Amino acid sequence: MKILVINAGSSSLKYQLVNTEDESVLAKGNAERIGIADSCLKHTPAGKDRIELKAEFNDHKDAIKMVLEALLHPEYGVIKDVSEIGAVGHRVVHGGEEFSASTLINDEVMEAIRKNVELAPLHNPANIMGIEACRSIMPNTPMSAVFDTAFHQTMPEKAFLYAVPYEAYEKYGVRRYGFHGTSHKYVALRAAKLLNRPIESLKIITCHLGNGSSITAVQNGKSIDTSMGFTPLEGVPMGTRSGNIDPAIISYMMEKQQLTSEEVNETLNKRSGVLGLSGVSSDFRDLSTAAEKGVRRAKIALDVFIYQVEKFIGAYAAAMGGIDCIVFTAGIGENTPEIREGVCSDLAFMGVKIDKERNASIPGMIKEGFISTDDSKVAVLVVPTNEELMIVRETMELL
Ligand code: AMP
Repeated sequence: MKILVINAGSSSLKYQLVNTEDESVLAKGNAERIGIADSCLKHTPAGKDRIELKAEFNDHKDAIKMVLEALLHPEYGVIKDVSEIGAVGHRVVHGGEEFSASTLINDEVMEAIRKNVELAPLHNPANIMGIEACRSIMPNTPMSAVFDTAFHQTMPEKAFLYAVPYEAYEKYGVRRYGFHGTSHKYVALRAAKLLNRPIESLKIITCHLGNGSSITAVQNGKSIDTSMGFTPLEGVPMGTRSGNIDPAIISYMMEKQQLTSEEVNETLNKRSGVLGLSGVSSDFRDLSTAAEKGVRRAKIALDVFIYQVEKFIGAYAAAMGGIDCIVFTAGIGENTPEIREGVCSDLAFMGVKIDKERNASIPGMIKEGFISTDDSKVAVLVVPTNEELMIVRETMELL
């Protein structure tokens, strides 16, 4: 069977068509600038060069239509008939407390996803537009929703409740939800496989370190705690997001700088993190270059990031009563040996021992594998994340 994976943003729509027989990607691409001038479709059939097609996308429905045209095209298409697409898997950011697993989409599910718009006003509306567009064009094709939050629904109350008046949780759903769940689940399962042990027997800490970063404690295959919270702003410092701060800073800064709540939100989401600290960039490659050249604040930003990641790993080791394995993934986790070494070198007291050569070799000829020494008490791995593949697998299971 072939499954189409859709990740719809407010003005873009990423897609992948995957053959479930061998999990190969037949084609992938991105419909860009939906509802904006100069829309285009970037489409890459497997083994061929990327092509860029001029387009006019008034809405997500136009974009889906063109994605299907590209997939069916005699020259650069990869299927002969739409009926070859057995199902569509949609990434949905927020499933709230309604969804602790992926689900097949029906009207009731759509209603529940709509209900969660309040909790993810920037993401769920776009996801809904993507689903509605597909449902109207392919009404008889089964569709699934795979939620970023679902994997974390196993967290116990002591991990997901904030110590604020309980009514905030009851009335407004104020609690930790966690994000990047599909990625954390994928890399934890893959790590168990590489360790050749059942995931149910393992204590794993997964570090998804990218532009947005989150860290999860996975015990017996279940998320028991995670660093992102009510929104993806909590946790470690990120490219532009602050991560954890003293909440009192917010009203203090609002008074001092005469900021509205919207403005302070914007500052914490878009002008903080390693960008705010360094004044250089939100991109870790730029930060490394600047730090090497002696830019003090770039070095500090990297130090703060590494220190906070270490602290979460230490906290989650305590939460699980030990760890068997640490996994690094996403842009920074997969590509930056210095950050991995920085984090792990201070964890030697827990039995973490990095093999410098192995660490430096990823990415290189290999992209995945162990970076710990053979005698390290805690296995440390790099696993490239693959949320699309996880969506395909979850959709297959639902079917
Ligand atoms: P992501 O959100 O997972 O795409 O990760 C994005 C971040 O990962 C970027 O801001 C970079 O700082 C970092 N990154 C991505 N690719 C590389 C690379 N090849 N080398 C170093 N850092 C990278």
